[in-house]
Amino acid sequence: MRSLAFLAVLALATLIAPASLHAGNPMVVFPPRPERLRALRYHAEASEQCLAELGVRGAPFTRGPKVPTIDTPVRLTGPLRGVVFEMHHPTVAHPKDGPLMDCRLLLALDDLALVVADRGVARVRFNSVHRGRWVQRRGWRHAAGVAIDVVEIVRKDGEVLNVLRDFEGHGIGSRTCGEGAPEPQKPKALALRELVCAIDELGSFNLILTPHYDRRHKDHLHLEVRRGIDWFLTQ
Ligand SMILES: [Zn+2]
Repeated sequence: MRSLAFLAVLALATLIAPASLHAGNPMVVFPPRPERLRALRYHAEASEQCLAELGVRGAPFTRGPKVPTIDTPVRLTGPLRGVVFEMHHPTVAHPKDGPLMDCRLLLALDDLALVVADRGVARVRFNSVHRGRWVQRRGWRHAAGVAIDVVEIVRKDGEVLNVLRDFEGHGIGSRTCGEGAPEPQKPKALALRELVCAIDELGSFNLILTPHYDRRHKDHLHLEVRRGIDWFLTQ
């Protein structure tokens, strides 16, 4: 009887699991001393500290308009480390004043730019940064301006790595980086996977969701600097 009860609890837990992103996901990592990692360090910074760090780095930005859901609104006004970030959407043009986001996401994008510039990337194309006015929790998701959806990466030689077309996923639930992650065959898929895993190594984003995560992410990489969590998930 006890084992039956246990199985019932297990079944229930499986049903409930999707409500919590990390519950039961074997790919979630709880790093020792997470506060040393960039994603947590950025959120530990007060607004003024964050803005000062952007200034020290020479990131091109302006202060953004006050938005109730964004802690420290800024706009990215030019290339980061030589890498152009541009809106790539069938109906939405690139915002003329630059995309609006939280200061912490801009710090993380600056880290990302350094890594991808080194690997021959010229442009990072996204279809969404800040969106929505409803926040589940402060500092979470697109409404807080701490997440970006990357749809395409363009290399300096003009080659385009498109997530929908080139990711070549191994199915939802597959591992993306690290030991046991399956390797794609085609060069573009391999290049895309290597970029994702180099970004993962930075520790600047605590959430990196790819087509391996679920159907909704089949065409983009969701990169997020989420406030108040001490775990990391790249999938
Ligand atoms: Zn997203």
